[in-house]
Amino acid sequence: VNEKPQDLQEARRQLPVYMVRNRLLEEIKKHDTMILIGETGSGKTTQIPQLIHEQRLEGAGAIAVTQPRRVAAITIALRVAAEMNTEIGSIVGYSVRFEDVTSPRTKVKYMTDGMLLREAILDPLLKKYSIVVLDEAHERTVSTDVLFGIVKLAQKERSEKKLNPLKVIVMSATMDVDSFKKYFNNCPVIYLEGRTYPVTIYHSKMKQEDYQYAAVCTIFQLHATAPANHDFLVFLTGQEEIETVMYNIKQIAKEATGPPIRVCPLYAGLPPAKQLQVWRDAPPGTRKIILATNIAEASVTIPRIQCVIDTGVVKERTWSGSTGAERLSVRATSQAACWQRAGRAGRTQAGAAYRLYTAADFRARPMHQTPEILRCPLASTMLLLIAAGVEPSTFPLIDTPPPDSVKASLSLLKELGAIDSEVNPKLTVLGKKMSTFPIEPKYSKVLLCAPEYNCLDEALSLIAVLSSENVFHTPMHKREEAIKVKQKFLSPLGDHITLLNVFKAFSKAPLKKQWCKENYLNHKNLTYACEVRQQLLAICLKLNMTVTSCGQAYDQVLKCLLCGLFTNCAWQRGGAGGARAAGRYVTAAGAAAALHPASALQALRPPPPALLYTELLVTGRSYMLTVSAIQPQWLQQVAPEYARRCRANR
Ligand code: ADP
Ligand code: MG
Repeated sequence: VNEKPQDLQEARRQLPVYMVRNRLLEEIKKHDTMILIGETGSGKTTQIPQLIHEQRLEGAGAIAVTQPRRVAAITIALRVAAEMNTEIGSIVGYSVRFEDVTSPRTKVKYMTDGMLLREAILDPLLKKYSIVVLDEAHERTVSTDVLFGIVKLAQKERSEKKLNPLKVIVMSATMDVDSFKKYFNNCPVIYLEGRTYPVTIYHSKMKQEDYQYAAVCTIFQLHATAPANHDFLVFLTGQEEIETVMYNIKQIAKEATGPPIRVCPLYAGLPPAKQLQVWRDAPPGTRKIILATNIAEASVTIPRIQCVIDTGVVKERTWSGSTGAERLSVRATSQAACWQRAGRAGRTQAGAAYRLYTAADFRARPMHQTPEILRCPLASTMLLLIAAGVEPSTFPLIDTPPPDSVKASLSLLKELGAIDSEVNPKLTVLGKKMSTFPIEPKYSKVLLCAPEYNCLDEALSLIAVLSSENVFHTPMHKREEAIKVKQKFLSPLGDHITLLNVFKAFSKAPLKKQWCKENYLNHKNLTYACEVRQQLLAICLKLNMTVTSCGQAYDQVLKCLLCGLFTNCAWQRGGAGGARAAGRYVTAAGAAAALHPASALQALRPPPPALLYTELLVTGRSYMLTVSAIQPQWLQQVAPEYARRCRANR
């Protein structure tokens, strides 16, 4: 961030990793596989790849460094390019879904774990790389877990075939070291000396009913007394929550005592320029308050935080194999995560962490978070594994997913027509095509079915929007106005066609930024959707698909959506017309669910008898998100078994 090269070099030399670089490099030279544990901020992610590169240890290949999060991969690559005084995309690059900023010269490549996994389909031996660094291993994302197995097999096979060896470095701040060490055949574990200062922990005396409210109260209590040069870091769960709290802080700050405040949000969907705000110093005498999602827990380091306010919650995707419902819910963090968060306050001086939960609550939490592979749908992963020529049942995983979940995923792939059989599965012609799209199998199925319904043009736009973050921007303080403006895009058919209307209008708007502002739309997310559409279109053209439009015949689009999303249907309780049950639905898997208040269908009377939803959100109640009205006979045509289940559950 506008730092001079010599300042960056000076900052580098201060990092714990840099100080022990010679010893580290020796170890890296000696071992094929090693585990490296070091406090967040010690320089693992930014320094180790650079040091290896400076020593030319990467040999003939390149260094891949994986990150579970897209933002982390991008910001870290930018930082490293700046430190190496080189342009991003040359020696240092990054590759995340729908964005590849690398060149044939790239030697240090930061990428999401999902991207490396995609590369592994085309080349399971990862021959492009001499060194693979699997970073943030403690996050245990499905992709990282699968990559553990991929690199293990690749190492073995490369050595058997006498190809150049593959070095593997697993890095993390905290980790369940024993299971990792065992999994990697007792490889050496190196602990970096941390350079941390004491952090005083305060717990709430009483259980907090509303952590968001508690967070705002705590911020202002501390703000009134803490010295102005103390910056705060507050952990929240997501963009909307961050925006709400930010608004509240700005309102209260007008009346509050204490120094001036600068609030900086930090979440995955934030435009890069705004993310960088977080690393800029506030003017002297101004307090910086950073409102961050889990990303600030370990993936990125924010310097000079004296005070952490931890809500103790995280948004987590879980999946119930029995109901097939994918849910995004707010859950308590693990003890390890609580310590990580608290540790953010002690990087550059002694600090304090205020936990908005009681000490008893803390002690009752599990030590580590459940690995994602044990709680997530695996259809997409299974498809990748099968495409990479791996037999899912013998693949070495650190934790074996529940048999139910594997079975459900394989059965979905079978229903989608991607594999020929659930035992010893092989990809069908359709499945092979599906695996070339970097999106969920149910979405790639929609695209592949689209020419049949004459609507590939529309399907591409719709899937692109569905693959992006929320395109509507509804600021707290202008809610009503935003909702009014949104009316003009609403379709009585539901949210999918509404989104399509938004995307079409955006594509035609001449001054896009201004237009988005006037229409309460998120310019960045819509621009991203356009890029995604380009990428998906390129894949479709490679597959010789014909792009045609169905014009205003939107029924076609919805029928086509059903081809991939038939598992996400719901029928009205008690059948159509049942006045008492109006608006109450039950899904094909038998779960009760309601229309989300933000749905375009909310105002429709009478409520449609059958629905197609994109996601099921469980926050106390189950809400169907991004929903369209469908005709029951459409489902009957596409997936009779699901139509039968829906009728039976009703
Ligand atoms: P680790 O991976 O061990 O957690 P990193 O290599 O990510 O540590 O970060 C090392 C240091 O580099 C951090 O303490 C931070 O001060 C600095 N740093 C990292 N990323 C940025 C950035 N984008 N802008 C400014 N400083 C950064
Ligand atoms: Mg790191």
